[in-house]
Amino acid sequence: MVGAGILGLAVARRILELRPEESVTVLDKEDRVAAHQTGHNSGVAHAGVYYAPGSLKARLCRRGIGLLQEFCAERDLPYDECGKVIVARTDAEVAPLREIERRAAENGVPGLRWLDGSGLREVEPHAAGVAALHSPHTAIVDFPAVARAFAGDVLGAGGAVRLGCEVIGIRRDGERVRVITAREEFVFDRLIVCAGLQADRVARLAGDSPGPAIVPFRGEYYRLVPSRTDLVRGLIYPVPDPRYPFLGVHFTRRVDGGVDVGPNAVPALAREGYRRRDLSGADLWETLRWPGSRRMARRNWRTGLMEMYGSVSRRAFIARARTFVPELTAADVVRAPAGVRAQTVDADGSLVDDFRLGRVGRVVTVRNAPSPAATSSLAIAEYIVDLAT
Ligand SMILES: Cc1cc2nc3c(=O)[nH]c(=O)nc-3n(C[C@H](O)[C@H](O)[C@H](O)COP(=O)(O)OP(=O)(O)OC[C@H]3O[C@@H](n4cnc5c(N)ncnc54)[C@H](O)[C@@H]3O)c2cc1C
Repeated sequence: MVGAGILGLAVARRILELRPEESVTVLDKEDRVAAHQTGHNSGVAHAGVYYAPGSLKARLCRRGIGLLQEFCAERDLPYDECGKVIVARTDAEVAPLREIERRAAENGVPGLRWLDGSGLREVEPHAAGVAALHSPHTAIVDFPAVARAFAGDVLGAGGAVRLGCEVIGIRRDGERVRVITAREEFVFDRLIVCAGLQADRVARLAGDSPGPAIVPFRGEYYRLVPSRTDLVRGLIYPVPDPRYPFLGVHFTRRVDGGVDVGPNAVPALAREGYRRRDLSGADLWETLRWPGSRRMARRNWRTGLMEMYGSVSRRAFIARARTFVPELTAADVVRAPAGVRAQTVDADGSLVDDFRLGRVGRVVTVRNAPSPAATSSLAIAEYIVDLAT
């Protein structure tokens, strides 16, 4: 297994659950588990509201949230069903919100309620809009803690989690797979690659196609100062722009009681660049060289510029959030740590929406696992292990 994020660990755990006699090793280049996307996300257990009915995202998110809730209950990990509202700010947003409601109902999301403006204020007294969709079972969790618990299960079942082991080569070795790290070599019967922000590079090491490529998008957050966290009870989202897989800057209550505003989606100059000034020449060169990135940039430059403006201007960032929580001011927030999304882009410039896997011989590669992959991790693990074995 490559990757000790939530997916690699969930897959390793699943293999050992089904076949305790197997020997399973998880390799990760960092010195801790959950170092990248799993440790830098919004912490929302998504109920399956947005996704195209029948897609992997829709199916695996619905199954995954149930498994995740059971897991957190069994292990006494935080799982708070604080609920979520998606707010239509204008009459023009009502029809797209009705479409989200239709999808959510088809996906089997329980407890959905359509609210008018006053119904919205009963659920979220500081939110404003002409209508809203309420998903009371959307929850918040601590994904790094879940990942650490998965790692504990892998170790407890006799598996190994080898940190500080960067995979730099993958070769066929007869019927087996030779994995070369900077320190040592391993030979496995099968290899599953869950390498997140490096997914395309590691897949290429295994002989998989160059595309689709990862184009990193930084998601920046602000945090409400403690005296203003009462502006938000649960999760408040705008109606997302249907052209993009991102949900729009929103308000997220965290399991520690804080409230985040964000994330935006700014093209990042480094795959693991959590600060605006982080730049990796190699990452940037790969992004620019990929024809899909250039096509994507040509089609979406206006939105890209607006996101960059929101990134440098706190006022612009907060002005977006104020469109549905009008009392918010720039003085109510402080900067919070950012995350970087591994967004996959096809050669034609389209942002890959659904989860996507690849396969080369005995190697299965996860090529696209954006949100809600953390929510869906236990269900994705079932799916991948079925496919690999
Ligand atoms: C800003 C943001 C907000 C999000 N919000 C949510 C949310 O609220 N709910 C939700 O369900 N999902 C959310 N997501 C998505 C979710 O975080 C990811 O889908 C999920 O964490 C993916 O897990 P992963 O294991 O595939 O990737 P990662 O957690 O990125 O793990 C990949 C691992 O592979 C390792 N690796 C890479 N290359 C190598 C190599 N060559 N050798 C060895 N190891 C390697 C890395 O070190 C890393 O540990 C969000 C993501 C972001 C960025």
